[in-house]
Amino acid sequence: MKIVTVVGARPQFIKAAAGSRQIRKDHTEILVHTGQHFDENMSDVFFREMEIPEPNYNLGVSGGTHAQMTAKMLIGIEEILQKEQPDALLVYGDTNSTLAAGLAAVKLHIPVFHVEAGNRLGTLNSPEEVNRITTDHIATINFCATEDALGKLREEGVEERSYFVGNIMYDSFLHFVNQPLKHPNILDFDGKPVTIPSEYYYMTCHRQENTYCDEPLTEILLAMNSLDAPTIYAVHPRNHDRAKCICEKRGLKNIILTQPVGYSESVHLTTNAKKIVTDSGGLQCEAFYAGVQCVFVLDFVVWPETMVDNRNQLAKADQRDILEKLSRNQTVNRDYQPFGDGHAAEKICEIIKKWERKEL
Ligand code: UDP
Repeated sequence: MKIVTVVGARPQFIKAAAGSRQIRKDHTEILVHTGQHFDENMSDVFFREMEIPEPNYNLGVSGGTHAQMTAKMLIGIEEILQKEQPDALLVYGDTNSTLAAGLAAVKLHIPVFHVEAGNRLGTLNSPEEVNRITTDHIATINFCATEDALGKLREEGVEERSYFVGNIMYDSFLHFVNQPLKHPNILDFDGKPVTIPSEYYYMTCHRQENTYCDEPLTEILLAMNSLDAPTIYAVHPRNHDRAKCICEKRGLKNIILTQPVGYSESVHLTTNAKKIVTDSGGLQCEAFYAGVQCVFVLDFVVWPETMVDNRNQLAKADQRDILEKLSRNQTVNRDYQPFGDGHAAEKICEIIKKWERKEL
């Protein structure tokens, strides 16, 4: 088959690394990059390091309101689909790129395959939730990362076209976790290499809720600064100035600010960290895979499967709450693996083959 895959944001590159490798064994893949994340350390490094094939198209759409971004992507993707006439479209996750591609395809009667379907927060206030629900309901096949997600699709009446395959990010994690990191390329804000301390905490924090003003991020950074080892904070480009300003103003010497890091570096920082503090859905799962304890700074649970035995705990953007959660001990039961067996990409391709042969 000819399959058009649309990606646009960092976590989608990480998922596509495992997906494209498998899909290209049996199919012709046309890769479209919407341009949502575009610079060297949010995009290019992943394509290079993870050997993701060069995109066939780059729409260069970034910034603007949700409507502006989605509308521009819809127009661009529709043109590509009309030109390429693929047998199917494949999308990952819940970004505006996912929604725009799904909508463009379904209106052209092109079957949509949605990877990481069925996750629900229970609120339409989250733009990603809107993207997820819409894409799940227009998809021809939904691939779920957890049984819980499949259960949600069952409740919503689309079970007959939905399958549990495991989390494709786990495939990528396993692929990289055993590769020694010979030359870590972790740079500070001035572009100088950062030496990784023998003991450290790893932090990422970029969600609107925690970074729209100084207060929540200051609380988080004050908590991290008071810990018994430095914190490596890999800063998303849009929070660069705020993070720098807070650390300088408050004299936070125990925080090491870095530019976004590549995926191998992020996996290395995760597996060797004392603990992790984040508001990233992807990173909290990776902490879980690595058996490293995580504190998730947000008001709602994103991956409920990880919230067992103190392995991942919700905290408010509040110093005391973060420190209290970090002080607890976790229990790691290695037999509990709700994210599948690390072969999600193979399972997705097997199901696609069955669909192609009309055996589903
Ligand atoms: N990540 C990375 N470099 C960084 C920070 C994060 O490679 O500097 C990886 C991280 O390991 C995880 C993914 O990016 O796999 C998470 O992406 P992001 O936080 O952008 O998205 P979210 O998880 O919030 O959807």
